[in-house]
Amino acid sequence: MAIEIKSLDQLKVMRKAGLLVGQTLALLQESIKVGMRTDALDAIAAANIKRGGGTSNFLGYHGFPATICISINDEIVHGIPGNRVIESGDVVSIDCGAIIDGWHGDAAISIIVGDVDPIDQKMVDVCEESMWRGIAAGKLGAPLSDIGHAIQSYIDSEGKYGILQEYGGHGIGTAMHQEPHVLNFGKAGFGPKLEVGIALAIEPMITRGTHKTHVLKDDWTVVTNDASRGSHWENSYALLPDGRPFVLTALDGGRERLGALGVEISDLLA
Ligand code: MG
Ligand code: MG
Repeated sequence: MAIEIKSLDQLKVMRKAGLLVGQTLALLQESIKVGMRTDALDAIAAANIKRGGGTSNFLGYHGFPATICISINDEIVHGIPGNRVIESGDVVSIDCGAIIDGWHGDAAISIIVGDVDPIDQKMVDVCEESMWRGIAAGKLGAPLSDIGHAIQSYIDSEGKYGILQEYGGHGIGTAMHQEPHVLNFGKAGFGPKLEVGIALAIEPMITRGTHKTHVLKDDWTVVTNDASRGSHWENSYALLPDGRPFVLTALDGGRERLGALGVEISDLLA
């Protein structure tokens, strides 16, 4: 299947969906507390997406039963909200998506609640920064694999982390998951060259141990084989007609974090 190329008008609608996702994640970050059940966070997300005029793209996706994915500690992605209670020191990864007028947004954050283990915090920070490095590398004219190469190079330079290999980023637009698949590792210089109108979700998933995972009996939750803790960060970004990126799911469009990497964001969606 060909990569879907979006017009500026279409990206304006994608920004609405992405901003709603970013705002919902910010609200969840403010709301999360030790002692809270994960389904309480799911309810907050569902209400906020509805209030913002969106619908959930996760709810009912291949039968997924909730609005957000909540994955704790050795759960890396696709955890189902429920009666689990958040404990002090938990590494909580929250993945959220929304649709507005048929256009999708998709993003994730990792938060440590209560007493923070600095080793966990470093892992979370490395995962987040690798996402920004991947987006920065995914510039106009760059071959697709430059993104994964930038992500892996940064992670490897920061320590010994496992990078999940069965899961990765993806194109996004009129569907949540589109071509191309975006690896979080590999060599630079391969794949299609990135062009104006492309939109990609960049989502590194790393662990303090092995990269190997399996799926729990609930058919969704992805956990590490060695029970090591992990982190997941995601943003959806696009390349605008001025040739510059804009992070659709970031409240500031990526201005601060991409700016720190020497990348100026587009002002066409501001
Ligand atoms: Mg996601
Ligand atoms: Mg995604």
